[in-house]
Amino acid sequence: MAPTATHTRPRVAVAKLASCDGCQLTLLDLEDELLDVAERFEIADFPEASSRRSPGPYDVVFVEGAVSTPEQAEQVQELRREARLLVTIGACATAGGIQALRNWADHDAFRAAVYEHPEYVESLARATPVSEHVHVDAELRGCPIDPGQLLELLTAVLLGRRPQIRDEAVCRECKRKGLVCVEVAQGIACLGPVTQSGCGALCPAYGRGCYGCFGPRRPGNAKGWSRALLAQGRPPEEVWRLFAGFTAYAEPFRAVVTELGVAKAAAGPGSPDRAGTA
Ligand code: SF4
Ligand code: SF4
Repeated sequence: MAPTATHTRPRVAVAKLASCDGCQLTLLDLEDELLDVAERFEIADFPEASSRRSPGPYDVVFVEGAVSTPEQAEQVQELRREARLLVTIGACATAGGIQALRNWADHDAFRAAVYEHPEYVESLARATPVSEHVHVDAELRGCPIDPGQLLELLTAVLLGRRPQIRDEAVCRECKRKGLVCVEVAQGIACLGPVTQSGCGALCPAYGRGCYGCFGPRRPGNAKGWSRALLAQGRPPEEVWRLFAGFTAYAEPFRAVVTELGVAKAAAGPGSPDRAGTA
């Protein structure tokens, strides 16, 4: 892409909504490549890294975090106005993150349980991905994002081409690495068949099932996989917990969480907690 008219290098901003900062740190953690990135891009606004801030417009705005407060709902509109390309980074920004689990719960009851004066806490009843509020040009998934995918996106911006990010399920990465399938060999529930790749099949490499932090692969048969897990004799609560993680609010995981959550509620409060997916 051509940089903004008065600048020779593409101008980059990194912004934060409701998040833990882990995805922004992936940029700072690039180590071997960070100096090259700083040479080729003007890091114009990155409060996590520097107090020196330069106003927009920007060529690329990376947005981390879910929209969780009225202030953030306004902030994301402003970020969109300032961005030629708006890129969401991480499970919070692309799927709502762990905060979005409140979307199935009583928000006011949570606030009352946690804060002595909930009336001073301004939060929205739902935590939502950025794409529910503004147009998003590209997204990097994961919790946190993958440094290789981040570099690929930055390279694509410099070269003015589409980023080449593999569109496949975690099972493909798992097989390329020659890992033994934990689902088949050990009977451990794994979301790999319906989860977007990018993590390098990290969890199966350590003998545990994938828990979906890169979010659902689209198209992918999440509902079919949840039924297969149930057909193996797993309790609905266990399958529900597996899907109700970092990316629970992203469709089609959301539909599974909603369906199994209803089944769980119907089982009644006395039903034993049989959770434990791995
Ligand atoms: S996606 Fe994960 S690492 Fe990134 S900001 Fe959210 S919680 Fe932190
Ligand atoms: S361990 Fe999980 S990700 Fe790997 S092949 Fe088996 S089901 Fe797929």
